[in-house]
Amino acid sequence: MDEPVIDLQSDQHFMDEALRQAARAYDASEVPVGAVIVREGRIIARAFNQVELLKDATAHAEMLAITQAEEVAGDWRLTDCTLYVTKEPCPMCAGAMVHTRLARVVFGVSDPKAGAAGGALNLLQFPTLNHRCQITGGVREKECRALLKNFFAEQRAAENPGKKNGGNISENAHTISQ
Ligand SMILES: [Zn+2]
Repeated sequence: MDEPVIDLQSDQHFMDEALRQAARAYDASEVPVGAVIVREGRIIARAFNQVELLKDATAHAEMLAITQAEEVAGDWRLTDCTLYVTKEPCPMCAGAMVHTRLARVVFGVSDPKAGAAGGALNLLQFPTLNHRCQITGGVREKECRALLKNFFAEQRAAENPGKKNGGNISENAHTISQ
């Protein structure tokens, strides 16, 4: 199989599309993460985080985009696809990326506490698993980070005094500010 072409300009272009998805999550009061999946230079799936809307902890942007892409491809194998996501994928999403054999994963801001693309651990290139994804991080990092930082700052500001946020949100906010 040919190596996927890595082109910084198109990476930025597709990350902008993922950022547009993340902005939709922001508008829906969801943690602003967006993802798109690209095959042969075309976007075949776009999604944003919908954990609150769907009341489903698995409804991360990447999971929703992967399901869409599988439908478009008519196959669970996404061997010739690249996934763009604004934040480094968590272990659940990284697991799905390995299962669907994505060629390449491009992310914006890294997550040193929970990221599974090299931040906290590297499931995308785990030696004993039967597939490894190429990884490119730091694409449109500033924009991706700013969106998350603003979101968590707004959440904190909207908090009732004396009422603490859920652990995840505080923890994410801390992670992102690093
Ligand atoms: Zn995830």
